Amino acid sequence: MPVSYLSKKLSPYVRVAAIIVVAALMVFAGLRFYSWRSYGARTRLTTLVNPWNPVSETGFSARLVEAENGMRVDRSCAEPLRRMLADCRAAGRNPVLAAAYRSVDEQLVLHDERFQQLVDEGRSPEEAEAETSKLIAAAGRSEHELGLAVDIVDEGYRATDARQAETPTVQWLEENAWKYGFIQRYPPDTEDITGFGWHPWHYRYVGEGIAESIHSLGITLEEYLSLFYSDEAQVVYDGS
Ligand SMILES: [Zn+2]
Repeated sequence: MPVSYLSKKLSPYVRVAAIIVVAALMVFAGLRFYSWRSYGARTRLTTLVNPWNPVSETGFSARLVEAENGMRVDRSCAEPLRRMLADCRAAGRNPVLAAAYRSVDEQLVLHDERFQQLVDEGRSPEEAEAETSKLIAAAGRSEHELGLAVDIVDEGYRATDARQAETPTVQWLEENAWKYGFIQRYPPDTEDITGFGWHPWHYRYVGEGIAESIHSLGITLEEYLSLFYSDEAQVVYDGS
């Protein structure tokens, strides 16, 4: 048989390498297939907004419904958010929905308040702008304007800083949010890709299948889009 003849001729190393290559190709093809399957959903749910992709260029218009605390979200994620918060509470944690949809004007106020605070503390306008933009997106460039992003903090510690990652609520979210279609949008050490520093409290809805892929691959939305939708004109991240 040619096959057994071939396998005898190949060294074990070559065979192992071939198996790894084939397995990697199968995983890639599987994810690619999954992406095609979810094509209908991606046009809205994977809408990319970051410092280089303003909301105005996405053509996205939020369809807002009520969530908790008088806040609103896009209706696509209202039910998954409700389930996620309920299950988080059932697990003994105390999540507080601290932010959801923001209009462009609300984003402008938030950004300017932080900027002014830093200027008042003695920073130059350039320094203040650079520091503010790492934490709070400029108006027109925040995912919160899509209604697909939420900030969730722990009732016992409400500050939006790195220590939020140590709270029981955010630790539960880190493990479980993907099951509800949410991803931690700004993980540590991804500022060059996402444009923002680590925001352990900021979660973005992308839908269950895509959230699972992004979570299991340990990548950002920008990297996911450039891996699977390189034809998307709106993706500017080039992998460098
Ligand atoms: Zn946020």
